[in-house]
Amino acid sequence: MSDATRVLVLNSGSSSVKYQLIDMADGSRPASGLVERIGESQGRIKHEPAHHAPRERYEAFPDHAAALGAVADELAADGLGLDSDRLAAIGHRAVHGGTRFTEPTLLTDEVVEALRELIPLAPLHNPANITGIEVARKLRPDLPQVAVFDTAFHATMPESAARYAIDRATADAYQVRRYGFHGTSHQYVSRRTAQLLGRSPEAVNVIVLHLGNGASASAVAGGRCVDTSMGLTPLEGLVMGTRSGDLDPAILLHLHRVGGMSVDEIDTLLNRRSGLLGLCGDNDMREIGRRTGEGDAEAKLAFDVYIHRLRKYVGAYYAVLGRVDAIVFTAGVGENSAEVREAAVTGLEALGIELDPVRNAVRGSAPRLISADSSRVAVAVVPTDEELEIAQQTFAVVRRTAG
Ligand code: ADP
Repeated sequence: MSDATRVLVLNSGSSSVKYQLIDMADGSRPASGLVERIGESQGRIKHEPAHHAPRERYEAFPDHAAALGAVADELAADGLGLDSDRLAAIGHRAVHGGTRFTEPTLLTDEVVEALRELIPLAPLHNPANITGIEVARKLRPDLPQVAVFDTAFHATMPESAARYAIDRATADAYQVRRYGFHGTSHQYVSRRTAQLLGRSPEAVNVIVLHLGNGASASAVAGGRCVDTSMGLTPLEGLVMGTRSGDLDPAILLHLHRVGGMSVDEIDTLLNRRSGLLGLCGDNDMREIGRRTGEGDAEAKLAFDVYIHRLRKYVGAYYAVLGRVDAIVFTAGVGENSAEVREAAVTGLEALGIELDPVRNAVRGSAPRLISADSSRVAVAVVPTDEELEIAQQTFAVVRRTAG
């Protein structure tokens, strides 16, 4: 077996790059870090090697090339440089694969060109992704690099779940359909939940609730996604930190016609000034919990709207799946907020869902069950690990192409 067992996972956002080096031989993580405020007058790089003290520097990173150059330098300083012969591949998180990319894909010039054609589907995310990919390919042109798409896991959704009920020709002309996001998280967490239950993924039906700043739910039947709450863009579905989630689509028309708002203003309103933030001025669930505890009515309403939507999706996906083996909470809110978990599933005993309040209150970083032993449906907390999932999928592609 070759010594090249490490995968560098890169997540290039519009103003940040997150990275993690993962060794597939033993699951160790020799280094991870983050560059932020790319393009601003002062940026920051935080580098955390496993065997040395973390390092932090403030300086300007004018573009992604400068940011990735700094990442390469930090890694090299720990003997983990991009030229290391232990590096097997770079795995890139890619937000939108459209209908064309439904599998992790080895990057070639042609694939990068096809990604460029998908920019209109995710104008906020895809350009930064592509820049990150291009810079990394320049740094190591000979190294296999793989794109792992946030949409891919949802490609198994049946047409009945993926289609919007609008004129078919119009939908097809503009690629308007439900793609879903957070796919690597839903995939990882649903599989890990099956493991926690001691069953194979093919044997279980799971509702995954990924509750972070962005939030989405999915219905996973036997390891395959059959429905998810995000749609053409990550705006649909659950109430999020700053995004509205589901709306009457005519609200947009109303805001434009009656409120005189422009398309860009409505975009900003729904993506950045809505959700929990719009309802109460805070998008952090910790702060909302604190305010609610002090009797703040606005914070309480924001929490209640968030929970109401979440419970609607639990019920909807219960019906979509017919039989549910587990409901699993993940991401920042799902992993940490016992209050949200309790509120999301309380009173659903008739559906076979019984939470154990003591187990729910215990904090921890390991996957764990929080349902009562008598609960027909297991309720679980499974910390997500999108980087590991990307590394595994990347490594599998490299192995396949090498073999
Ligand atoms: P992202 O979508 O940015 O990856 P995360 O999954 O990291 O987000 O989740 C971030 C959110 O998690 C924060 O906005 C905060 O509301 C929530 N969060 C983190 N820790 C806690 C906690 N202890 N209790 C409640 N919410 C928490």
